[in-house]
Amino acid sequence: MALMNENYCNLKESYLFSQIAAKVTTFTAEHPDKKVIRMGIGDVTLPLAPAVIKAMQKAVEEMATKETFRGYGPEQGYDFLRDALVKYYETAGVTLAREEIFVSDGAKSDCGNITDIFSDANTILVPDPVYPVYVDTNIMRGRKILYINGTPENGFLPMPDASIKADVIYLCSPNNPTGAAYTKAQLEEWVTYALKNDAVILYDAAYEAFVTDPAIPRSIFVVEGAKECAIELCSLSKTAGFTGTRCGYTVVPHNLKRKTADGTELSLNKMWLRRQTTKFNGVPYVIQRAAEAVFSEEGQKECQEMLAFYRENAKIMMDTFTKKGLKFYGGVYSPYIWLECPKGMTSWAFFDYLLEKLAIVGTPGAGFGQMGEGYLRLTAFGSREATVEAMARIEESL
Ligand SMILES: *Cc1c(COP(=O)(O)O)cnc(C)c1O
Repeated sequence: MALMNENYCNLKESYLFSQIAAKVTTFTAEHPDKKVIRMGIGDVTLPLAPAVIKAMQKAVEEMATKETFRGYGPEQGYDFLRDALVKYYETAGVTLAREEIFVSDGAKSDCGNITDIFSDANTILVPDPVYPVYVDTNIMRGRKILYINGTPENGFLPMPDASIKADVIYLCSPNNPTGAAYTKAQLEEWVTYALKNDAVILYDAAYEAFVTDPAIPRSIFVVEGAKECAIELCSLSKTAGFTGTRCGYTVVPHNLKRKTADGTELSLNKMWLRRQTTKFNGVPYVIQRAAEAVFSEEGQKECQEMLAFYRENAKIMMDTFTKKGLKFYGGVYSPYIWLECPKGMTSWAFFDYLLEKLAIVGTPGAGFGQMGEGYLRLTAFGSREATVEAMARIEESL
């Protein structure tokens, strides 16, 4: 008899995006004349950078001739891309060895897969509100999950304290959904906590490229000691428009080691290499060439232009909210604005209000955790025209 992983029974149905879609469909059917502006989904809208397309096309051509065709590549990624990432990390003030970087098909996969190298006996610490993948992937393993609250008082940047007993800690900075970003001093506190408790931090830096302020780290590895206690997950999805192209990378430092119950030292880098070479066969050559181009001089310039475009959208939104006296977080180091629902409305009440009155779609904050109740996430990934139009509607009638 096949016994099933009954931990799956403990997952909450994720109604969030299907419920949003259903409400929008109903609204559109009832008001075919109204132009709905979607500011809910966290997907990019600008096409891939020209340098990326050029590299991808060249790689496709290489696949067409016998001499340059590629079959299976190294599971952990081609050296050309890992070396480009080593250089890119230098721009963030971090020195890495090529072998510390693992290329993957995205940060979501790695977020789930990394759970393989940790025991199910661990207690997991997850900030609330946060990207729901951290919670669900650990529920699937039957692990104990503790939450640490993001609140207006801590600027949605929860900090460790001695009363917390956690073994694996998820941090996401700049944060999805709140847009809040930890300072170096705050990350130092987390690293100190992790080192003291032999914990491991899983640091999701999917939005690092949105950071322009040198006071805000783009990598946790700028903090001394982080290489002894942290793994960093990163992605080209939001920073280079790779949501449909699929490429990310995970950094597991050589100095990250933990002991087994009988005292044998384990290298997490070696464990992850073993995991990847066993269960993964690498990212397509064509995609890795495209990813390499992101980190070329031309590619960086073009991608920064895309980010500047989204940042300007965020600025337009923030200016409107400030003018209207609406309270919000984020928007500066991330494409997300975390809006406090006015007049004490719940997330869903405000969602309904915006849809019915202004034909604007957001994402109810309650979908990102209990602490998200009373907030709504709006994204700056839309077109300029739609962003300006949405803000005009808010300015006029909210
Ligand atoms: C979008 C997102 C990811 C997923 O990235 P992919 O590389 O597309 O899988 C990971 N973490 C956070 C916080 C995200 O918002």
